[in-house]
Amino acid sequence: MSNKNSILSTALANYDRTAQMLQGEVDSDLLLKIRQPKERIEVTLGPLLGDNKLHLFKAFVVRHSEAMGPAKGGIRMTDSVSIDDVTGLAMEMTWKCALIGVPFGGGKSGIVADPAKLTKHDKEIIIRSFARNALRHIGPQVYVPAPDMGTNEQDMGYIKDAISFSMGKATTQGCYVTGKPVILGGIPGRREATGNGVVICITEAFKTMDMKIRGATAIVQGFGNVGSVAAIGLHRLGVRIVAVSDLYGAVADEKGLDIEALIEHTKRTGSVKDFPQGRQIDGKKMLEMPCDVLVPAAAANQITADNAPNIKAKIIAEGANGPTSPQADEILTKRGIFTIPDILCNAGGVFVSYLEYTQETQQEQMTEEEVNDRLKKRMTEKFHQVYELSRQRKITMRESAMYIGVKNVCQAMIARGYLS
Ligand code: NAD
Repeated sequence: MSNKNSILSTALANYDRTAQMLQGEVDSDLLLKIRQPKERIEVTLGPLLGDNKLHLFKAFVVRHSEAMGPAKGGIRMTDSVSIDDVTGLAMEMTWKCALIGVPFGGGKSGIVADPAKLTKHDKEIIIRSFARNALRHIGPQVYVPAPDMGTNEQDMGYIKDAISFSMGKATTQGCYVTGKPVILGGIPGRREATGNGVVICITEAFKTMDMKIRGATAIVQGFGNVGSVAAIGLHRLGVRIVAVSDLYGAVADEKGLDIEALIEHTKRTGSVKDFPQGRQIDGKKMLEMPCDVLVPAAAANQITADNAPNIKAKIIAEGANGPTSPQADEILTKRGIFTIPDILCNAGGVFVSYLEYTQETQQEQMTEEEVNDRLKKRMTEKFHQVYELSRQRKITMRESAMYIGVKNVCQAMIARGYLS
């Protein structure tokens, strides 16, 4: 069946397609070289948890490329994350940073633990244990982590504290982690940046397709950081959010869900499930319901060859990393569904992380207004760069985004020379 795709195999398939497009333009040895991660590290954490027992957890740090600068990418904390997943995600970060135009390479880390099954205190201990044990692989010129699935702003605060404490200092010199609480040197607007970037891309897609956004309909899969911010942003633009799902359930209302009330419900109960104003539906089937925009903002490999023929959305905006399998991608392209690829659509987070990095390096402060203005300008500019190239070359938005990202990395490698 079509569900054999892993995060790494999807990342490699997207890369191989791009490398083929670049044959003749870029040295083929260079294309082989950047197909490989630069470094994959496995760390064993063994903290004493609240039950006074020692527990073992695996953690991974992968730096895929540092041609453009220090590796950048979030920490994923789930019970199933593997070093190959982290490698695929790190690779995607390389192209994303290069596409969106920030001087970072691609990195990612993973902690194998299910945050939903941990007490708040135990999660804090594991995050601090990760910071201490992976410290030699983290730093402003090495790898700068951020939140990803299963980790949040508070966890980044613990990481900053653990690192500065290890150094015997009140703070760190330079930026070791982004997505921190604003009070600890985080930047206003970072928490919302990925979801807001998704909304900016959707708005531009509507304009290019000559469609009106007010009154349009959307479905959002995943109601965490990215999904909930994207949903509220679309709701405020007059889009009817007709269905939302998370790991535990899904709710629908054709008249449009009250997203503010749904956020309150999720804060209270931990899930969208049993939201009283919506009808309970099947989360998988939800992806096939009629709507103008589908926003996958949860796990990878959700749109597969099995459901792609039945998807009714006109636009797919990939808030998640790798939500579409390569086989599904082909089906969607043939069906004329406009896909805004992950490396463009969810790049708002890493763009604002870069603003946080520069703010901390220069010991400056930026206002939320400045951050949001710069985010809007950059996302809009990059959306149109990718769109124009896709039109000129008659290629998909994913092919266009990957072509620009990979080519930029190749140019950085050529500029550095071939010695490493
Ligand atoms: P999160 O942990 O805050 O939320 C994840 C949400 O997805 C939760 O509501 C969870 O219940 C739901 N979910 C997980 N698996 C699901 C499934 N199979 N079906 C339905 N719902 C499911 O994570 P997040 O930070 O919002 O990240 C979501 C996605 O966006 C991930 O793919 C992540 O890599 C990507 N992303 C996040 C950021 C960021 O800044 N946080 C940046 C770029 C990309």
